[in-house]
Formats: sequence, structure tokens, C-alpha cells
Amino acid sequence: MINPFKLLGISDDVVNAVKDLGFENPTPIQEQAIPVLLEGNNDFVGLAQTGTGKTAAFGLPLIELIDFKLNKPQALILCPTRELCLQIASDIKNYSKNISGASVVAVYGGANIVQQLREIRNGVQVVVATPGRMLDIIGRKAIDFSSVKYVVLDEADEMLNMGFQEDINDILSTTPDDKKTWLFSATMPPEVRRIAKNYMDNPTELTMGTKNTGNVNIEHEYYMVRARDKYAALKRIVDFNPEIFAVVFCKTKMDTQDVAENLIKDGYNADALHGDLSQQQRDKVMQRFRDRNMQLLIATDVAARGIDVNNVTHVINYSLPDEIESYTHRSGRTGRAGKTGISICIINAKETGKIRQIERIIGKQFTKAELPTGFDVCEKQLFSLVHKVHNVEVNEAQIEQYIPRIMDEFAELSKEEVIKRFASLEFNRFLEYYKNAPDLNAAANDERGDRADRGARGARNSDYTRLFINVGSVDEFTRGDLLSFVCNNGKISGKNIGKIDLKGVYSFFEVENAIVDSLFSNFKDIQFNNRSVRIEKSGDAPEGGERRSGGGERRGGYGGGERKSYGGGGGGERKSYGGGERKSYGGGDRRNSGGSGRREGGSSTGGGFRDFSGKPREGGSGTGERRRRS
Ligand code: AMP
Repeated sequence: MINPFKLLGISDDVVNAVKDLGFENPTPIQEQAIPVLLEGNNDFVGLAQTGTGKTAAFGLPLIELIDFKLNKPQALILCPTRELCLQIASDIKNYSKNISGASVVAVYGGANIVQQLREIRNGVQVVVATPGRMLDIIGRKAIDFSSVKYVVLDEADEMLNMGFQEDINDILSTTPDDKKTWLFSATMPPEVRRIAKNYMDNPTELTMGTKNTGNVNIEHEYYMVRARDKYAALKRIVDFNPEIFAVVFCKTKMDTQDVAENLIKDGYNADALHGDLSQQQRDKVMQRFRDRNMQLLIATDVAARGIDVNNVTHVINYSLPDEIESYTHRSGRTGRAGKTGISICIINAKETGKIRQIERIIGKQFTKAELPTGFDVCEKQLFSLVHKVHNVEVNEAQIEQYIPRIMDEFAELSKEEVIKRFASLEFNRFLEYYKNAPDLNAAANDERGDRADRGARGARNSDYTRLFINVGSVDEFTRGDLLSFVCNNGKISGKNIGKIDLKGVYSFFEVENAIVDSLFSNFKDIQFNNRSVRIEKSGDAPEGGERRSGGGERRGGYGGGERKSYGGGGGGERKSYGGGERKSYGGGDRRNSGGSGRREGGSSTGGGFRDFSGKPREGGSGTGERRRRS
């Protein structure tokens, strides 16, 4: 049988390369776009969602059209973010791996420009760039675009959203007039239309899917809850979907951080991604998510741009975006590569109008969904556990030696009894936890509770003491890291901790008044990177200025080198948060209880995700949620 990519006009070298990537059949967008683009003599506008195979749709024809014997830039691909830039460059390298002399460079901000300039000097045919850095390099007269035949504007709507219009104008003006321009966009607002009009000559237009329609593989749902129940609703949704692998969108950096912190405290496998993190921290978070060592990525729109992680099961709009158009980009993080996905909005009654506006834009209707009851969650979790037990991989060699003793223990019990007991082990905890769980589905206009709630939260701080600690973001700590570090070494639960304020070489965190003394005593001998870790009441510690003296001398620099353990001696590597490649934040002493212990427990049955064993998570029994709310 002839390979279907070959039938579209792709050469053997490239067909073999995509075969190695596991591409067996072209996606619909590839089927439509490849033959058109291979002609090479037209401008092109493709209205296409992310995750549909767009990169290969333009990348494969581009490779066919380039003369790889000529060592000059012939194709320029502009895209909005560093992540996307790296992804596209890596994809094009993969597609062209069998072509001798093929060279692709990724040019993006926030990285060493010298290295990028060197690569350009060595000779490249394909330049993948973010607009700002590209302009910088053009300004240095470090690149010759006189042989450019094709310019691709990928995610054009995003580039305009991010204010790159002028940069794009300037860059395009340095390329030859007779080049062809291929534009891809998920939406077609007037500004993108204008680009097509100004820069293109009678472009061929292809709409992949219906015009302005979101990915057909995505279901859209909304849950209506009172504003004060939003967080509990989020947890309920997550609990009801034990295998969830989701991006949760918040409007502001602060919300993102708050939601992530609360989730971590409540035992979930989550982390935040937003613009206040350093590039290194963002990379770290993204790597964990990509490797599926993290279940919930809590992100702002800007930080999540260009996230191209496959198999995301859900996108959760914890808050609706201000710009309705952003919804398409958010929801496009799921339902990629032919997979199905669910995009969920958690809204209050006042926001139904916005849902209707979104429906008009995506050309699809939302389903109004009901939040599951506590009983529903218990049932779902129980069968998820049963399923996992059924499918668990048994390490025969390791378990064998214990089997006779285990058999002895169970000798009196029938098979049914054993099964019942195993299942009950976790089920009882869930039942206990959810026994008084309220119905969270909003009686639409009931906002009275919100005011009461705000009052309660305002009063919260008198129960907490603010503490100073001499570690911070220069030690590569995220707030989640700091939380784990304090919990593990202080032998307390995440529920005892309030706000965390991560600074440079130091940080502040709130802790319940009742446990301040024990925290101080547990932190007496804690070392980190061969220096003493010190905590002090924040009134005793000056907030302004970078304190270097707080915890003895910082040897070995800040954040250099590999950090194996954040604990006090002998920590070594251990997996945390459900079995990923996470380094330890704890000391050698593993007797610690509370949140971290629970989180760790998650790995035992969670297959990489925190799950059943991470109880309790919702209001019923004194969780972080309840503390915050009452
Ligand atoms: P993109 O829209 O280019 O970001 O592609 C989304 C995902 O689909 C990427 O992980 C690609 O590797 C994958 N992909 C693209 N084309 C195909 C194909 N023909 N068959 C299978 N997977 C594909």
C-alpha cells in the first residue's frame, strides 16, 4: 500500500521521517493543505485550530520546497511564543532529519542570543522565530533574508493579541517582495483579515472545520455555582475524574497562584504557571506537566500560550476570559491530535450572558452540567480504584517473598471478604469525607453567601503568624516547593499554612498561631545546600532588602547545580506528588504527617497521579477549604 503522505506528494525521505514519528495517516488539515501548499506559488490563509496537525500541514510542504543545497534562509516561520517556537523548530528538524545539509534554527527571547547568532552564521535554511528576537537580530544585521521564499505566520491572531503587529510589519519588510506568505490562525478577527489583505496577493483560503468553529472533538460544559463555591466545585470536578489531566485557567497571576497553592495544600498534584515565574521555573513546571508528573496545571492565558501538551483531558475555565476570543485558545489545549476533550466553565449566574457570547463565537452549544454529589464522587473513585487494582502491574520478584505471610493473614477470610476489605480501605475514607458534602449547584441568584464569606476570610489573618524564611526563588523554589519544604521539615500539614509570599533570597509564609512553636523547634537543625535554614517571626525580620545573613553563609551560589534534596540531611531522592521525577523537599526523616504524607501516599495507587489516598480534600472534615471559608 502506498503511504498516504506519499500520495499527497511528499518525498520518501520525509515520508520515512514522519513514519518514525508515528504519523500513519494525514490529519484532515494536512490532507487539505499539503497539496495546495506544495504548489508553492500561492499565498495561503488557513483557519485552523491548534492541535490539529497544523505544523506538519505547513512544515512538510515547506521542506519539499526548500533547496537544502543552498545554505541561506529560505523559510521564515513567525510564531507568538518561545514554547511554540521551540516546538515548531523541533518538529521541522524531525521532518527533515533524513535530508543532508538541512538546518533549522529557533530564535526566541529569554535565551542566549550569541548562540543563536552563531547558529545563523553557520548557515540555516529554516528560521523559526518569535517577532521580538527576530527584529533584534535583523537590527544587528546578522541575517540575510534575500533568499527567503516563504514566510509562515503561525497563530497570527495570538501574535496580534500580544501586540506584535508592528514587529511583523518590520520583519516582513526585510524579506523579498515575491516571497509567498502562509498565514494560520485559530480565529479570524478583523485585524488578521487586514494582514491577509495587506500582505497577500489573492490567497488561497482553507477553513479546517467550520468557520469560527472550535475543534469538533471538544465538548463544552458549564457548571453554575455560587462564587464562594467555585473552588469546592473545582475540586469536586477533579475528584469525579480520577484520571483528569487538565489545564485550569485563571484570570490573574494572583488567582493562579492562590488556586494552585490551595490545591497543593489539599493534597492535589498541581502547580502554577504564570508570568511572575522565571523562565527556568516555568520550564520546570512545564516539564513536569509534559511528563505527566503533575495532574493540574493552573495557568494564566499569557503563560499558557503555545502549550502543546497532548492528551490533556480537560480545560477548566476557573474564571472566564475577559476577551471572549481567548476561550477558543484555552479550549484548544484539549482535544488535540484527534483526541476528544472537555472544556468546562465554572460560572456564577451573572455570567450566563458570556456563555451565550462564546457559543456564538465557537458555533457550538454548551451543555449545562450538574456537579456530582458526594455519593457520585465516592462511587466513581471506588470503581477507579477497583479498575486500578485489576490492572496493576505486579512485581512478582519483589512481592513473592511476602506472599506466604500475606496468605497466612487472610487464611480465615473468603475471597469476597478480602476484596470487600481492600475496597473498603479507601472507600470508607471517601465516604467519611463526603458524608456531609453540600450540593454545590447554585440556586442561581444566591449571592448572599459570598458577602458572608468575604467577611470571614478578611478576619482570617489574626489566627496566623507571618514568618520569615531564608530561602526563596533564587533557590529555584516555587511556592509549591516552599510549601512542601516547610511541611516536610516542620512536620506540619499544608492545612496549617496560610499565604506564601515568595521573594528572592528569602520568603514569608503564614502559619497557624498554635503551631508556631513546634515549627520553630523542628526547624532548629535544618540545613539546605550546606547552610542553616532559619525562620523568624516576620516582625523580627526586615522585609525590605535582600537578607543574606539570616541563615548562615550561602555556599555554592544560589540555585546553581543540581538540587537533590531540600531537606535536612540524608533526604536523597524520593518521589513525591504521585510518583514523578520530583526531588525531595523533606529531610531524611520520613515520619512526617499531614499534607505531604498524603500526597506521597497518592503515588501508591495513583499511577503517577494523586488520587484516592490523598484525602481529605473537601469541606466535610476540616480541610484547607473549610478553614478558608469559615
Ligand atoms: P500540531 O497541531 O501541529 O501542534 O500537532 C498536534 C499533535 O499532533 C502533535 O503532537 C503532532 O505530533 C501530532 N500529529 C500531527 N500530525 C499527525 C499525524 N498525521 N498523525 C498523528 N499525529 C500527528
